[in-house]
Amino acid sequence: MRMSNALIPTLRDNPADADTVSAQLLLRAGFIRKSAAGLYHYLPLGKRVLSKIETIVREEMDAFGGQELLMPIVQSADLWLQTGRWHAYGPEMFKVTDRHDRQFCLGPTHEELITDLVHSEVTSYRQLPLRLYQIQNKYRDEKRPRFGLIRSREFIMKDLYSFDRDPEGLDKAYWDMYQAYTNVFNRCGLKFRPIEADGGAIGDSQTHEFTALAEIGENTVVFCDCGYAANIEIAPCPAPQPKSGNEAELAMEKVYTPDAKTIEAVSAFLNVSATKTIKTLFFQADEELICVLVRGDREVNDVKVQRVHPCLALEMAEEDAVAKVVNGGFGSLGPVGLANVKIYADLEVEQMTNLVCGANEEAYHFINVNPGRDFQVEGYYDLRMMTEEDPCPKCGQKTDSARGIEVGQVFKLGTKYSEALGAKYLDENGKEQVMHMGCYGIGVSRTMAAAVEQYNDENGIIWPKSIAPYHVVVVPISAKDETQMAIAEQLYADLQKRGVEVMLDDRNERPGVKFKDADLIGYPVRITVGKKSAEEGTVEYKLRTEAENEVVALSEVVEKTVAYIFS
Ligand SMILES: [Zn+2]
Repeated sequence: MRMSNALIPTLRDNPADADTVSAQLLLRAGFIRKSAAGLYHYLPLGKRVLSKIETIVREEMDAFGGQELLMPIVQSADLWLQTGRWHAYGPEMFKVTDRHDRQFCLGPTHEELITDLVHSEVTSYRQLPLRLYQIQNKYRDEKRPRFGLIRSREFIMKDLYSFDRDPEGLDKAYWDMYQAYTNVFNRCGLKFRPIEADGGAIGDSQTHEFTALAEIGENTVVFCDCGYAANIEIAPCPAPQPKSGNEAELAMEKVYTPDAKTIEAVSAFLNVSATKTIKTLFFQADEELICVLVRGDREVNDVKVQRVHPCLALEMAEEDAVAKVVNGGFGSLGPVGLANVKIYADLEVEQMTNLVCGANEEAYHFINVNPGRDFQVEGYYDLRMMTEEDPCPKCGQKTDSARGIEVGQVFKLGTKYSEALGAKYLDENGKEQVMHMGCYGIGVSRTMAAAVEQYNDENGIIWPKSIAPYHVVVVPISAKDETQMAIAEQLYADLQKRGVEVMLDDRNERPGVKFKDADLIGYPVRITVGKKSAEEGTVEYKLRTEAENEVVALSEVVEKTVAYIFS
């Protein structure tokens, strides 16, 4: 490709609303353009990167028995009603109505469609197992699209679905895909970890998230030298020390605590440690308001709460909703005297004596509150977020944590969808059996953004070789110099003959501008043709990962480049 003909609209400055490094760099380097909130154009460079990731994904899916197909994006509501997800999916589903008033959605995922298809086409054990996949646009009407391609409303996914005769077959499919995903992300050059994750509403389902490590990640990964790695959402906290019994329970008292509306302010005002206070939080669990208690210095883990109190959506309650059950504002909430609200408490709360909590009255707190004596709960459960002080759940040693972006997930669905949509087969004895399913997703566009989050510097993107839009940029210092251009053209042709993907920067621009663009776009290799190329037969060879140039003989540069790119 010649830069003079290419649509690569680079920008000098970061667009105002680009909120992450990957969004900034992909926009600035001319890979993507925003069309509307959470919707992006992939410009020619961006499309090339996507295609490379897709090729890697296809090769690995095919290597593990995947067969590619393509299903409609627009899906009828009927199937979603059968699985109960038409309403359960919530406002994130893009719904559309056709001219006959029939309802459809833009597919956020394809379990319903694929299961219905397999239900129609597969009837015998002889046709199983099956692994079917597609690479396609998916839709999620995010409330707040952000982070560029990472939380967008339209995105590109690979989704594979496995159909097996029994749980053993599903287990094989699951671990095959686990291996395929490991291969995909290794080949894309990502730094990632497969981690144990929350099986969601299906409860005991087995699932792993493939998490690309990055500061902006919305997931926190807990990991340990012993091999334990999990999403913090599911990392179990150790059982608390039982209370010693040395501390006598004192009489509960209401005390005036003006302006003390946070745990810090209350513990400072009363001169007690935050570990002697409790945090009282209200959640909206679908239609129901529930109350959750954790020690004052702890954070509530929503996923653990949702396991104890199953619901479709769990969100922090609005102050108005809470005001209907208590008098005090958010600064003085507590469990004492709460009626008609289910209270769930963390295990640590049960072991506390003479604790401090809000009195549900503006500017007042209770002291010397004792669980069981002064308030009752539905139960005590592990409801808090693990911290770095907590030991590894597997080996008891110290853990580390990191932020990450989920780029893939493997998930055992079992028979949930096959039961709902009648995906059954006849076994050797002519007996009807339900198929066992798994689903396996890779965020293709998200993988592209995750790579940029991991590989960049102050000058721009540093693409891993395997997914770079072009391998090499050839930069003649002066496009007007016929000798230089002739050498550059020859290099351009010779490299392409060897299978190297080359951009020739033939623009009539100052060298500084071309170098800046080359760094911003992030080609793995830059070859500069200058005066010395004609006079001494040398070029400058620079890797994007290195700060310094190397002077290389013109006669050797093609071999050197080929060796680097295809190593
Ligand atoms: Zn461990």
